[in-house]
Amino acid sequence: MTDAGAAQPAPDGRLILLLIGAVGAGKGTQAELLAARLGIPHLASGDLFRAALRAGTPIGERARTYMDRGDLVPDEITIEMFMDRLSDADAARGAILDGFPRTVGQAAALDATLASRGERIARAIYIAVPTEELVQRVAGRSVCPTCGTPYHDVSDPPRQPGICDKDGTPLVRRDDDRPDVVRARLQKQVPPMLQVVEHYRSAGVLAEVDGRRAIDDVLADILAAVT
Ligand SMILES: [Zn+2]
Repeated sequence: MTDAGAAQPAPDGRLILLLIGAVGAGKGTQAELLAARLGIPHLASGDLFRAALRAGTPIGERARTYMDRGDLVPDEITIEMFMDRLSDADAARGAILDGFPRTVGQAAALDATLASRGERIARAIYIAVPTEELVQRVAGRSVCPTCGTPYHDVSDPPRQPGICDKDGTPLVRRDDDRPDVVRARLQKQVPPMLQVVEHYRSAGVLAEVDGRRAIDDVLADILAAVT
């Protein structure tokens, strides 16, 4: 389900994609599958931060000064981190951005930085899933504390409820995955996310896909929108 015409790569032909979706929408899974199919890297903001901090790069050190104070890292540092990573050889043909921008202000700043280098977001892909379905997806999660195997009450249940198939350990649920906690998180996350969606719809680069279906069907829609 596509809103605009063919994806519009920058003049140099690089395919810079943006994946948008709430927690539980399957964004990370789709990003990994898409990266493998297209042969371009998946750049998740959280991973970039962790890598920059671990490597002690100048940009990582600047981010650390804010994080050590408990402050939010300024948008320009996050954008610089993405731009640094985009200059790596494996991103020469494009990349999939994930986890940023989260607000319209961040989207405008990212667009401006890309434009200053003659580039743009070729396609913003919004994986749409109704909020209550997201709550059910996330709230059904559990994990084995011994071996780390994840389960889901509906989509991936253990053979015996509440028990790990591999080692018989009782499964645990994270507090973060309680329905009320998930619902509260989504209430904060979804409105600014939808503003970002509308921002890229206005720019004529949005592709909205129905994320309620099987992983392969969602991936097929995304591939159709970007190739
Ligand atoms: Zn286990």
